[in-house]
Amino acid sequence: MDSRSISARSENMRRIRSRNTLPEMVVRSMVHALGYRFRLHQGNLPGRPDIVFPSRKRVIFVHGCFWHAHRGCARTHVPKTNDAYWVPKLAGNKDRDRRNRRELATSGWRSLVIWECEIQNRGRLIGKLTKFLGPTKGR
Ligand SMILES: [Zn+2]
Repeated sequence: MDSRSISARSENMRRIRSRNTLPEMVVRSMVHALGYRFRLHQGNLPGRPDIVFPSRKRVIFVHGCFWHAHRGCARTHVPKTNDAYWVPKLAGNKDRDRRNRRELATSGWRSLVIWECEIQNRGRLIGKLTKFLGPTKGR
């Protein structure tokens, strides 16, 4: 097998993985293991946050680096083939994210974005989550 087909294959696997939102499941199980109670995808909140902590009035969005245009991230690259489509599309996603977080803040919800690339550093991610969520109750 030549190196080109190997890299094409790993690129393909990465796409499949992100479609199954593995990052979201990783963050969810981490939050659970840390002892926090949460709900999923509350439709009545702006942007339908991925993980909702009603008693703490906090929400977490788990964002794919490509779809949400993570600034300066290696996983964010606009496909060259059709950038007239992708550039405004990804910019639109980012604007919508910003608007949703502003709306949440206006109604007293604090929000945190976890980027797909951040799940690789488990220790740092745990630190970020506990700092945002505060101490767990009953432990
Ligand atoms: Zn990223």
